[in-house]
Amino acid sequence: MLSVKDLNAWYDRSHILQGISLEVQAGEIVTLMGRNGAGKTTTLRTLMGLVPKKKGEASIDGKPFLNLAAHERYHLGLAYVPEDRRIVAGLTVKENLQLGIIAKKNTGDMNALVDEIAEIFPRLKERLHQEATSMSGGEQQMLAIARAMIGKPKVILLDEPSEGIMPVLVDEMFKLFSDLKQKGLTILLVEQSVKHALSISDRAYILDQGKIVFHDTAKNLLANDEIQQKYCAV
Ligand code: ATP
Repeated sequence: MLSVKDLNAWYDRSHILQGISLEVQAGEIVTLMGRNGAGKTTTLRTLMGLVPKKKGEASIDGKPFLNLAAHERYHLGLAYVPEDRRIVAGLTVKENLQLGIIAKKNTGDMNALVDEIAEIFPRLKERLHQEATSMSGGEQQMLAIARAMIGKPKVILLDEPSEGIMPVLVDEMFKLFSDLKQKGLTILLVEQSVKHALSISDRAYILDQGKIVFHDTAKNLLANDEIQQKYCAV
């Protein structure tokens, strides 16, 4: 599904990503782990075309996308939920959701798509007509994820979904990811909360100083305290 080969990226003259290769198969949740500054966010941003200086290969179902325009990536099935969520102030929850569909051609009935997604996110269903930025951080994060999903992407890149969210909502969110995985959603996840992330992931890659230094099944990594302490301490 998602294949990345020898990805390199630079901020000015700093060579941040130094040959990242990874695979995410259809229906998998794969986590990118590593200390602060290891290059996790930069990996997602580079895949989304937000880092201009880059080299390497990335494809979805064999179709290369690294040099495509944003809307072309979107049509290939790539969605991104950045750490800062980018919920639009002054719009309701429903209007924010609709923004996730507008870019798509032949979407059919917008209301039907909103209803469909609201069934998956009950917290949003109750708040469709509320101003989006009046919701809690966790609810806004759910909205950002729902807005990415409404375009029916093949792969979602999720950056730190639990950041700044109260623990009870984090548990709910990870349960939701697990349910979405059962429905076939494919996720590449960046997450500081290692235990949460590994508990729902199939596999994980560990990044250190812009390189993949380790990769294993989530089950093995959960049991591997040595690697967790070496590479995942904040
Ligand atoms: P964190 O969890 O702290 O976000 P991360 O693994 O996601 O960590 P990145 O944000 O990808 O790390 O950062 C990788 C490196 O790139 C760091 O050294 C960081 O200082 C640098 N960097 C990130 N963004 C920029 C930028 N816009 N300009 C210059 N350097 C940057």
